[in-house]
Amino acid sequence: MTVNEHPKAIATLSADGVHWIVPHCPICGREHYHGAGGPGANHAEYLGHRVAHCAGQHAGTHGYVLVQAPKGTDQWALLYGRAKP
Ligand SMILES: [Zn+2]
Repeated sequence: MTVNEHPKAIATLSADGVHWIVPHCPICGREHYHGAGGPGANHAEYLGHRVAHCAGQHAGTHGYVLVQAPKGTDQWALLYGRAKP
């Protein structure tokens, strides 16, 4: 494994297009928000490698690769691994 390999973080776009929401950080398991450009922006440009907000708190971690969740993905399902009851 090289230093350029980062875990993938599944992200969903907020309804207003302002944030990419990572419901379940692959490093710390918490929720993180990253800028997505705002309404009308090309949100995909904001995907890719990002510094995790928790980086530095966990030895050897510097970030992750933001990837868009498949269309229709339920944030609850991402977080808990099952459909919202
Ligand atoms: Zn984290």
